[in-house]
Order: sequence, then structure tokens, then C-alpha cells
Amino acid sequence: MTAIAVLGSTNMDLVAYVPKAPRLGETVTGRAFRTVPGGKGANQAVAAARCGARVVMIGAVGADEFGVRLRSALTADGIDTAGLRTAEGASGTAHITVDDEGGNSIIVIPGANARVTGLEAGDETRIAAADALLLQLELPLEAVLAGARAARAHGVRTVLTPAPAQTLPGELLAATDLLVPNEHEAAALTGLTDPGRCAAALLEAVPEVVVTLGAAGVLYAARGREPLSVPAPRVRAVDTTAAGDTFVGALAVALGEGRPMPEALRWASAAAALSVQRPGAQDSMPTRAETDALALAGRDTRTARAPE
Ligand code: ATP
Repeated sequence: MTAIAVLGSTNMDLVAYVPKAPRLGETVTGRAFRTVPGGKGANQAVAAARCGARVVMIGAVGADEFGVRLRSALTADGIDTAGLRTAEGASGTAHITVDDEGGNSIIVIPGANARVTGLEAGDETRIAAADALLLQLELPLEAVLAGARAARAHGVRTVLTPAPAQTLPGELLAATDLLVPNEHEAAALTGLTDPGRCAAALLEAVPEVVVTLGAAGVLYAARGREPLSVPAPRVRAVDTTAAGDTFVGALAVALGEGRPMPEALRWASAAAALSVQRPGAQDSMPTRAETDALALAGRDTRTARAPE
């Protein structure tokens, strides 16, 4: 069984559904309110666990009711939370307003996530036992760096989602095996707009890059190899929240199983395409069986079309 370690954030998403987002100073009456577990780290952990991996989560929740719920949401998916500290104070929260057009605005308050500033006892062992370490940028950079260093020291593949976009220290890039930005993050990192050019520029810093392009699929680039474009399965998207996290979790599992990159990309694209057809973040993430079924259907379609 593939083993995945995630060093990352847990947030409670506080989602208000409103006809129209309020302007500064304005009060509006909303339609509904939901609290749902989120955070890029926790999302990637859940995605990998549903895809059949053994997953350990390293990070922190707060000493509040949200912390209890965030931890139990992870354990419900079989994720090992021994490396998830309970820090003093509030859990991380994301205050999300979704309007009738589907547009959203988000305030993230890092809370307990901000108090993860490095590795603690047992974390290095957890990372060393994994096939891959998944990193994002919702924890302080020094913690992300410490994780990347530990993974490097033990020959563990590091997969970095550079979100939220920010300037990355050279040492972090040097310890990254696979960088997975979406097209906006790729543009922010390189100052370029064309995804192919972004990927080529990023290859100067990391050996492999996957730029995710929403409904257009993904672009894979590796040093010394021809770029590979993998289209997304055509589906009716209802909510793309956490599509990128679902993709990364599934990709790490497929690569951990030793599958070749093109097959792993197609399988992860199937997982992400399933997630966008259902509302929610972690709620929308597919099981391994569902992902296998869609990936197989896509392969059969391609095989059938090949002679045309
Ligand atoms: P998010 O922030 O919502 O998690 P993202 O901006 O990080 O997502 P995207 O590039 O939008 O990442 O999407 C990630 C992957 O999810 C895409 O590469 C694709 O495989 C899949 N995906 C996203 N939108 C769709 C869609 N409409 N149809 C099919 N697949 C999709």
C-alpha cells in the first residue's frame, strides 16, 4: 500500500451563501450557512486516503470545537492524526462568501496553522516512512522547508502545491521533486502567461512540473523530455472547490504505486473530474473504485477512437 505523508493546513470552512456579496459597510441577508472541514493539507490527505493510500497528517488544529471536528473528519477517512498537534487558541478558519453567480470571496485566518513552525518529535520518522510528502503553502514557510529537508534527507519524493502563490525560496525549490501549480500560480511564479512557457521556466528550478488547467486538463513537463498534455474527462462541473487538491492526492498515490507518469496523470485527472461533479471539498472526493471506473472508461474510449 502506498504511504503518503502530508505536512499542511487544516481549516474549518465557514461558508455563507448570499444572493450578492455585501460591499464594505453593507449588510445582506444570506440564504444558508455551512461549516465544512477544509484546508489544502487536509484536503490532499483525504484525497490520497480515498484513493487507497495509508496517510499520515502533520500539522495543527486549535484547542476548540472546530479542532475536534477537523481531527475527526480526518480519522473518519482512516488518516493517522498522531502528528496533528492541538495548539492553543483557535483552529484555522476560511470565511467564504458564495454568491448566486457562483463567485466567491474568502478570508483565511491561519489560527493553529500559523503555530506550525517546524517539525516535532516523530515527524521525521513519519516522513521517512512515506513514499511521498505532500506540501502546500498554508503553513509558515519555515515548516514547509523543514519538511522538504527531511524528505530529501530520506529520499522521499516531495510534491509541492505552490498555493497560495508567493515567492519561493531557492532552497525549497531545490528540495522539490514535483511542482504542481495551477495556471495562475504558474504565472505568478514565472511572470509569464503561456502555461507551456511557464512550465519550461519552472524546469530551471525543479525536475518535474504539472500545470493544472481546469477543464482543459494538465500540462506535464520534465527536464530532457517532450511536454505531455493530458485532457480532462468531459464532465458537467457543479463545484470545482478542491479539484486541484483531489488531483494532487490521487497523482501522488498513483506515482507511489510505481505507475508511469502518463497513466498516473490520466488517473488523477479522472479523480479530479469526479470531484467537480459533486458539491463540496472533501465531501466531493471520489473513492478508488470510482476513480478506476472513470479512468477505465476514458481508456476504452481512447482505444476505440485510436484507429479513426
Ligand atoms: P481548486 O483551487 O478549485 O482546488 P485549482 O485552481 O488548484 O483548483 P484547477 O486547474 O482548476 O486547479 O483544477 C485541477 C484539476 O481538476 C484540473 O487539472 C482537471 O484535471 C480537474 N478539473 C478542474 N475543473 C474541471 C472540469 N470543469 N472538468 C473536468 N476536470 C476538471
